[in-house]
Amino acid sequence: MTLEAQSAAIAAQFDYTDDQVNSAVNEFRRQMTEGLEKDGTSLSQIPTYVTGVPNGTEKGLYMAVDLGGTNFRVCSIQLNGDTTFNLTFTKVAIPRKLMVAKTAQELFAFLAKQIELFLQKHHEDHFEQHVRRRMTMSSPDGYKDEHVFRLGFTFSFPVQQVGINKGTLIRWTKGFDIPDAVGKDVCALLQDEIDKLHLPVKVAALVNDTVGTLMARSYSSPGKTGTVLGAIFGTGTNGAYVEKLSNLKKPLSGEYDKTTGEMVINTEWGSFDNQLSVLPNTAWDVALDKASPNPGIQMYEKRVSGMFLGEILRLVIIDLLKDPKVSFFKDENSSSNDWKSTTNIVSESSIYTQWGLDTAIMSVAAADNTPELSTLRGELEKQLGIYSAGLDDAQAFKAIANAIGRRSARLSAVAIAAIVLQTGKLTDPANADEPIDIGVDGSLVEHYPYFRDMIYEALRAIDGIGEEGAKRIRIGIAKDGSGVGAALIALVAAGMEKRLTTADYLGELRSNAKSNNLTVVPEDDAAQD
Ligand code: ADP
Ligand code: MG
Repeated sequence: MTLEAQSAAIAAQFDYTDDQVNSAVNEFRRQMTEGLEKDGTSLSQIPTYVTGVPNGTEKGLYMAVDLGGTNFRVCSIQLNGDTTFNLTFTKVAIPRKLMVAKTAQELFAFLAKQIELFLQKHHEDHFEQHVRRRMTMSSPDGYKDEHVFRLGFTFSFPVQQVGINKGTLIRWTKGFDIPDAVGKDVCALLQDEIDKLHLPVKVAALVNDTVGTLMARSYSSPGKTGTVLGAIFGTGTNGAYVEKLSNLKKPLSGEYDKTTGEMVINTEWGSFDNQLSVLPNTAWDVALDKASPNPGIQMYEKRVSGMFLGEILRLVIIDLLKDPKVSFFKDENSSSNDWKSTTNIVSESSIYTQWGLDTAIMSVAAADNTPELSTLRGELEKQLGIYSAGLDDAQAFKAIANAIGRRSARLSAVAIAAIVLQTGKLTDPANADEPIDIGVDGSLVEHYPYFRDMIYEALRAIDGIGEEGAKRIRIGIAKDGSGVGAALIALVAAGMEKRLTTADYLGELRSNAKSNNLTVVPEDDAAQD
């Protein structure tokens, strides 16, 4: 078989037909409902205790940190209250060895140190003034409460949230593995390390990146409609959406505001269909899963997100390189290579190691439409040490990479469609003519060429959406979503702190009143103010 025919045959294995997409949407909806009813299901459907989305009028200065899968971002955000904001941030790559550190403390000490460096660099006045003040004050933490930065902690791993700034880690994903952190409150882990450095910072809110994206998009999106879904397509993939409280059947433990009738639900859709009833499963998907740190889980994520697409491609390439019947990245002699040379792969090429192919090169492949694919061939050389790749090699690489990218986008459409249908907004007459707003974030959706177009193409083929429905779905990038979103949730949390102290105060008043036979405000009114 020629290389061209061989690569076309492989690409075809990544086809995901309209029918398959439709069955997957039905299964996704079934798993969503199941997750709203009980614990321990495939889609965790975690209640976030966030009961509304912002409308753009929120104001204040907050801090936010974001532990994604690849980078740690620290930022401060001034919300201006007119849908605009000012954001200052720094970003560092998380050292690989900390992702698998012996103790959680090692990772969180590193994070706290980055917060200190950020404060020194960008909020020097505040930092100096208050650290000095702390030295001269005798109270236990030494800061006046109003001088303490409220920080929203975006933590993009599955946590069981038990309050607005409290949540225990359920499991690591995306290549992290620090066993002693599992089951611990990640806010407390961070606060402890912040306190060791005596920083004027309070971890006020625990935020999933999807919830942050939803909030940020809702704050800044045009028009009066609140955003219905925040979705991430970065190292991993996940989504959070606004659900009716009446659909949430499993018991809730913490306090929350019932008046809106809604709550944001973190789906943890990365683990959609771990049982593989509708997900595609090529030999390379099987191989990737088997060699991953968490076999059998996050099966949807392993077919969709940035961390994995490059690895699927790498596994295909390795198979092709081993196949004596195809000539891929190798030449009989220089006459069969359009550069009149022979292809060489350096022996230390990262193509031979797990995770050695960054998904970013798939974006280069998809974007390169030059006849000679010279940009792609340049990147193959630079990133993978593949010298003098022939045009046919580059074409085969591109065909397979595109098929993997396209399958990812079509699978992404499954989750988006299921949630749009779940909201009922497409058929709600009260909502006619209103767009259905969706915020997305992550390098994959931001940088992979035509990723959103491929999502829309699949949406149009879905029953209950179609051409008309797809037109009403507005998918927009929530730029800096996690930072702004975390700030917005820190703001909500600060409001709740106040409300809780009022409630405590009223509670005390009430019990005093009882013992003195007096009457005060009825319980229900007081709880809502
Ligand atoms: P995080 O998940 O840490 O918040 P990102 O949203 O930046 O970070 O996602 C990083 C992931 O996106 C990595 O897996 C990387 O391989 C992938 N990625 C980075 N750049 C691109 C690109 N240009 N095209 C496709 N994928 C990319
Ligand atoms: Mg992210």
